[in-house]
Amino acid sequence: MYARLPVVTPRFPDGRPDFLTQCTKLCGARCCRYISLPIPAARTAEEFDDWRWYLAHEGISIFKDGNTWHLCVETRCGYLQADNTCGIYETRPRVCRDYDPTDCEFAVPDGEFDVEFKSPDDLAAWLGKKKERRKLLARRRRNGAARTRRSPRRRLRG
Ligand code: SF4
Ligand code: SF4
Repeated sequence: MYARLPVVTPRFPDGRPDFLTQCTKLCGARCCRYISLPIPAARTAEEFDDWRWYLAHEGISIFKDGNTWHLCVETRCGYLQADNTCGIYETRPRVCRDYDPTDCEFAVPDGEFDVEFKSPDDLAAWLGKKKERRKLLARRRRNGAARTRRSPRRRLRG
C-alpha cells in the first residue's frame, strides 16, 4: 500500500468536484495499482505462518478494515494508461465503477486501518504484543481471582 495523505478534492470554478485532476494528477491512480481480497482471519500458528510467507513476498501487505482482513497485492492494472487515465473507462469492471473517489484511500489520512502488516517483521511485532497483552490479562485475572478469594477473610478480620 501507499502512504495515504489527506487531500482536498479540486473543484471547477462552478464548484463541481474535479475528480479527473484528483485521480490522475494529485493521486496518480493509486487504486489502479493494487488489488485487495478479503481473507479469513488467521487463528492458528500454522495460519499465521502462512501469513508470514505471504508477507515475505514483495508488494504484499495484509490489513484489517473493520472486522475483515484483506490481502493486498501491489500490481498495476493493465488498462491504466501513461497519463493515469483508464483505457477502458466506459466498460471498466464493476469494482472500479463502484469505487468512490470521495471516500477512497487517497482522501483518508494514513492510519485508517486498525492493523496493517507490510513485512514479516510487522506481523512478528504484532504477534509479540498480542502475546504480551494475553499474559497481562491472564495475570490480572489471576490477581483478581486471588483478591476475590481473600476478600471474605478480610471482612471477617475487619
Ligand atoms: S479514486 Fe481515489 S485512490 Fe483512486 S485514483 Fe481517484 S483519488 Fe486516487
Ligand atoms: S480498469 Fe480502469 S479504472 Fe479499473 S483498475 Fe484498471 S485502469 Fe483503473
